[in-house]
Amino acid sequence: MRSFRDSGNISKEDANVTVRGWVQDVRNLGGISFITLRDRHGTLQITMPKKKIEPGLFESLTKLPRESVIAVTGEVKESNQTALGVEIIPSSFELYSEAGVPLPMGVVDKVNVEMDTRLNNRFMDLRKPEIRAVFEIRSMVIELISEAMIKNGFVSINTPKIVASGAEGGATLFSVDYFGKPAYLAQSPQLYKQMLMSAGFDRVFEIGPAFRAENSNTNRHVTEFISFDGEMSWIDGEEDITAMIEEVMDHVLRGLKEKAKKHLDTIGKEVGIPKRPYPILTYSECIRMVNEAGLPLRYGDDLGTEGEKAIGDIMSEKGNDLYFITEYPEEAKPFYIMRKEGTDLSFSFDLDYKGQEISSGGQREHRYRELVGNMEKKGLDPKDFDSYLDAFRYGMPPHGGWGIGVDRLVAKILDLPNVREAILFPRDTSRLVP
Ligand code: ATP
Repeated sequence: MRSFRDSGNISKEDANVTVRGWVQDVRNLGGISFITLRDRHGTLQITMPKKKIEPGLFESLTKLPRESVIAVTGEVKESNQTALGVEIIPSSFELYSEAGVPLPMGVVDKVNVEMDTRLNNRFMDLRKPEIRAVFEIRSMVIELISEAMIKNGFVSINTPKIVASGAEGGATLFSVDYFGKPAYLAQSPQLYKQMLMSAGFDRVFEIGPAFRAENSNTNRHVTEFISFDGEMSWIDGEEDITAMIEEVMDHVLRGLKEKAKKHLDTIGKEVGIPKRPYPILTYSECIRMVNEAGLPLRYGDDLGTEGEKAIGDIMSEKGNDLYFITEYPEEAKPFYIMRKEGTDLSFSFDLDYKGQEISSGGQREHRYRELVGNMEKKGLDPKDFDSYLDAFRYGMPPHGGWGIGVDRLVAKILDLPNVREAILFPRDTSRLVP
């Protein structure tokens, strides 16, 4: 293989190099022409003084359509006209792929393109450095999550995504015809990660897809998202879980601040590190806060987008971008959450970030009889959950856990206005391609 250089590792000490990339721009000034060649790390300037390079080469390079993919071999020269301090004077080139004309959308043109057009041409949209940087950062978020979890003794797991029963309510289940039997796409790994507590793993985590048939068009819901789930045994209460989440979040945000500077600069963002401990608000307090902010919510209502935003504004003003909301009424929570005896409350919480829910979690009901009772109260048939319930029949430790939407987390870290901005190929009610 030839020895290639890219814009990330070229310097004036290099004599003769081969570089590869996309022709971002061609400027022909007559006696001299320039190509801006873009690769993963940035751009390079190819400079073509007409008199100094072979005429055929000048013509062929100068007429290349934008976004064509080429390799250029040439001499590296020092230059004070370019950001990298070097330019390349070509001696030969290879055309790997000539781009069609016109382009479906521009890569560097300063025109506002609709989100739909961008998503329809996502391969092109992702050529923009500031868009691709989001996914470089997302990759780091996932790595940092895994790092924090493994450091804390969690085992990385993968659970089935084709399942026989839903855990998060029937309204958002996607049906699948499984060789003539009814099946669904998993809404979360909830039932499986709990079963693994009975198996004695003690601490597990999964970063995997979750599917919800959300028939609404909001900027925070998609039909396929990546969920970072954790589950841990031997807890004394939900505080053990919130403490673990806090540790992971802090590790992720500090890690990004330390390692992602280049990508953050590309987007023009900084990562804030919220104060610890993250404040804990009760659901009742939140209802009071949103009422005072002028929203007519009543006890028992979902805080909703508006309510969450109102609370987020108040908390951010105090420097608290991340905060937990606890003591939700049990009615609002799924069957697997433990109820607070003698009250209408549950041992559950949400984690909100800059005015949006990014996680739900809580202590689970590990007692078989109570769990079956919860199912019946919610109108579910315990028979549909037989194999899950078996894990509770034969010895289950006290446990709890959480699910964090990775897409929402990334969107919030970077203040992106729509969760779709943090997903390579988002799926929603109207989008199945690309
Ligand atoms: P919401 O009330 O915002 O619809 P939820 O209460 O249905 O969320 P949970 O079932 O608690 O969500 O899921 C845990 C986390 O998974 C959420 O906090 C969110 O980060 C993420 N999540 C859930 N549904 C979606 C979705 N449709 N699109 C993107 N992320 C989601």
